[in-house]
Amino acid sequence: MSQYDVVVIGGGVAGLSAALVLSRARRTVLVVDAGAPRNAPATHMHGYLSRDGIPPAEFLAAGRDEVASYGGDLVDGTVTDFVPDGRSGFWSLLAGGQRISARRLLVTTGLRDELPDIPGLRDRWARDVLHCPYCHGHEVRDRQLGVLGGTPGAVRYAQIVRQWTHDLVYFTPPDILTAAERTQLLARAIGVVEGSVEQFVIDDADHLRGVQMHDGCVIPRDALFVPPRFVPNNNLLVGLGCDVDAEGWAVVDITGRTSVAGVWAAGNVVDPRAQVITAAGAGSAAAIALNADLVEDDVRNAVRDLDHGVPPRPTTNAHPKESP
Ligand SMILES: Cc1cc2nc3c(=O)[nH]c(=O)nc-3n(C[C@H](O)[C@H](O)[C@H](O)COP(=O)(O)OP(=O)(O)OC[C@H]3O[C@@H](n4cnc5c(N)ncnc54)[C@H](O)[C@@H]3O)c2cc1C
Repeated sequence: MSQYDVVVIGGGVAGLSAALVLSRARRTVLVVDAGAPRNAPATHMHGYLSRDGIPPAEFLAAGRDEVASYGGDLVDGTVTDFVPDGRSGFWSLLAGGQRISARRLLVTTGLRDELPDIPGLRDRWARDVLHCPYCHGHEVRDRQLGVLGGTPGAVRYAQIVRQWTHDLVYFTPPDILTAAERTQLLARAIGVVEGSVEQFVIDDADHLRGVQMHDGCVIPRDALFVPPRFVPNNNLLVGLGCDVDAEGWAVVDITGRTSVAGVWAAGNVVDPRAQVITAAGAGSAAAIALNADLVEDDVRNAVRDLDHGVPPRPTTNAHPKESP
């Protein structure tokens, strides 16, 4: 197909949920996906009602099948740029040189988790170095847990992780805790270890056993919670001129509409707080708004045709791939 109603950039849960709603609304939709969803390193996904514990790849494969079953197209690839087509649509340029035309765009490219530069930390990511207690806290409940502090909001984050265990240690650079923070940690029996983390101690079974400090001291821990820095994959939105806030996140309304006409965004690319279930909801909400926007376009075009003496076309709305 040369022109789609909507091209969705990013085939994670937000993009696939949108594509499902759009293809069921008899819109032509293409999902272009680079194949690196954020939760790919995790063996299991939690907190999605009715799918708790499913491997993330299995969940997305089922989503792709559902989109395809309604005639949605999916392609592996990376969109590198958008070019307005001079009317109200866009060309999407793919890394291989392909150009795809669309009336509307939905960007669901997710975010990157930037982790502290501690030797071995990235190797343990999504195994025993975790970031989201709602995703994986239950699996390590009542174990010896740690929180890597030192960043804004880390003490509050530790107080949340405390919900899952009574044995929690807060690792922090020296002399940065306020008196109030120390009191709050003490009051909830959260241990404080000051100094810099040197490396992780891993046992023969490849499990975390402890956190080694710069002075050689090892604090036994089964898992460490680390607050990453969230960086949106929003260069395509920025390139189009979408408004961003002071932290660099693209500004969208409640449906995901950006400041550039015809361009929507949903999921982690605009909302670092989105879990799988809320990213799915945002994708769905964006799809419904996109369809309404396309309907407005359809009405405008039909009225213009009528004004030019073109009689209303009694055509069906059938999706090109629907069987007769
Ligand atoms: C380790 C880990 C475990 C997690 N576990 C859970 C959990 O158990 N439960 C839960 O609710 N949440 C969990 N999350 C959060 C979850 O990953 C996100 O909520 C979810 O992935 C957001 O979906 P999304 O569609 O916005 O983005 P993503 O899932 O990241 O999908 C974005 C997609 O866009 C693609 N893409 C990016 N740029 C381009 C481009 N230019 N062209 C084409 N494609 C592109 C990417 O390759 C990717 O496939 C976890 C996160 C992490 C890091």
